[in-house]
Amino acid sequence: MVVGVHRPTQLVIDRAALRHNIHAEVERLDQGSELFMVVKANGYGHGAIQVAQAAKDAGATGFCVAILDEALELRAAGFDEPILILGVTSPADAPLMAAEGISATVAATDWLVDAQAYLDLAGTLAAPLHVHLGLDTGMGRIGFRTVPELTTAIDFLQAHATTLDFEGIFTHFSTADSPDDHYFRQQVAKWHALTDGLKPRPRYVHVSNSATSLWHAECNDNMIRFGVSGYGLNPSGTAIKPPYPLQPAMSLTSELVFTKRIAAGDSVGYGATYTADQAEWVGTVPIGYADGYERRLQGFHVLIDGQFCEIIGRVCMDQLMVRLPHDYSRGTKVTLVGENHGAEITLQDVADYCETIHYEVACGFTSRLPRQYRN
Ligand SMILES: *Cc1c(COP(=O)(O)O)cnc(C)c1O
Repeated sequence: MVVGVHRPTQLVIDRAALRHNIHAEVERLDQGSELFMVVKANGYGHGAIQVAQAAKDAGATGFCVAILDEALELRAAGFDEPILILGVTSPADAPLMAAEGISATVAATDWLVDAQAYLDLAGTLAAPLHVHLGLDTGMGRIGFRTVPELTTAIDFLQAHATTLDFEGIFTHFSTADSPDDHYFRQQVAKWHALTDGLKPRPRYVHVSNSATSLWHAECNDNMIRFGVSGYGLNPSGTAIKPPYPLQPAMSLTSELVFTKRIAAGDSVGYGATYTADQAEWVGTVPIGYADGYERRLQGFHVLIDGQFCEIIGRVCMDQLMVRLPHDYSRGTKVTLVGENHGAEITLQDVADYCETIHYEVACGFTSRLPRQYRN
């Protein structure tokens, strides 16, 4: 998709906010513990390269991504820190990952066997493939679930130490963002059952996403995978207060491109789902569901001149209409996410209205929206 640089609609990313959040977390870590910034999905929509640089400036010493292409994007941009791919990759890409010094998550021994075959085929390696074993302690997504499975994998790694480097072991919690820690405790117990007495202990032992590090920091081993809170978002939504103020880094702004006065009985938008009861001013904003601003946001609001203005009629693919308290000139600023004259719309507000989570809203903004960086 082309980037809409000639349209006055953009995501504004505050790098100082990113650095503030990440630095605040780095400061809370025990000595010798590291923060890897999670920059998957284009840095949760914020721009992976810009976020990675801000994270590095704030004390992050590595990165996590979801897929190999995201890791390669960081390498191509010149980042030489450790990068862990959190998802399952293809064993056929083992030589490429080894060559690029990219760490693979491994969730099954047959993956190691296949990867070993590809590494053998590739011939002499500059360095072995770094491997983090993923343990499924209750997330139910990927990973080893029993001690015998895990032991088999570790034995295989040790038998192939020239090509495979046992660099890390980790798990992922599914309820660390909940005030009820019952299931979390069960996962912690499972983690200990799987890893207590583990020999050898790899370089990185890690269990914490943002929520775990914010509210269960005693579980952090020597690395955390810090994601959503680095972007200034509370992983629990509003359920639990973070230990320090998080500063949201993302705003979404546009401008009025057209205004008009409509009469009582006039309708607005596809399906004529909105009909004015009385004469009113209507403004048009150049953003729509093709930008990731969802169609179901009809009835929600934007901020203009510090005032909440309702989105009337259906959100179109590229435009939406709002009711104005009075006429405004073309070019008047519209804030869809962020602060405007002391009033604020958060990603959480948008997510609540869409009955989803802010993670999905942030990474749902499409590449048509330019990302503008401040600070
Ligand atoms: C996405 C992800 C994270 C980061 O989670 P946040 O809630 O954004 O901090 C950490 N670990 C794994 C395995 C992930 O998939």
